[in-house]
Amino acid sequence: MKRIAVFCGSSSGRDPIYVNEAKNLGKLLAAKGIGLVYGGAVVGCMGAVAEGVMAGGGEVIGVMPKKLANIELAHHGLTELHIVETMHERKAMMAELSDAFIALPGGAGTLEEWFEVFTWAQIGYHQKPCSLLNVNGYYTPFIALFDHMIDQGFVQKEQKHLIIIENEAKTLLKRLINK
Ligand code: AMP
Repeated sequence: MKRIAVFCGSSSGRDPIYVNEAKNLGKLLAAKGIGLVYGGAVVGCMGAVAEGVMAGGGEVIGVMPKKLANIELAHHGLTELHIVETMHERKAMMAELSDAFIALPGGAGTLEEWFEVFTWAQIGYHQKPCSLLNVNGYYTPFIALFDHMIDQGFVQKEQKHLIIIENEAKTLLKRLINK
């Protein structure tokens, strides 16, 4: 496990636990010698996870579309910052550089990015593990929706086994490393 892509909010969320846990995940990644691939922003939980890795002396690769570099403010202290033309290029590059995916709490952008890699795993385009870090129970309603989708016959039960869900960053990383 060389690098993990983390998708998370460009916002900080209402409770400080979101930013704190993002930072904590970053520190753990650095401690385990796993590089971070993320959206490259300095704001919100995105900025916090990068700060955590950098505080631990780890590798951080940011990938940001040109148009967003001014809005979300590109982080300039990273190991590498790639400014790409489009959102599609960003997602492709992030997926290519990573060996696994984690979604921390975030908004529609986070879900969109995570769902893309998850649906690709579902149809066998890649075998990289897709996971959710359920900080503060944030993803519990989403997990309930997923169960409802299975219950109503739109998602196969086996597909839920493709999602690794944990409440603690430490436990989650252990599972991803052992995959
Ligand atoms: P959010 O979770 O909405 O705060 O967004 C987190 C990250 O996802 C930010 O870097 C957004 O720029 C990015 N994002 C927003 N919309 C999309 C989209 N349609 N496709 C890919 N990434 C997106």
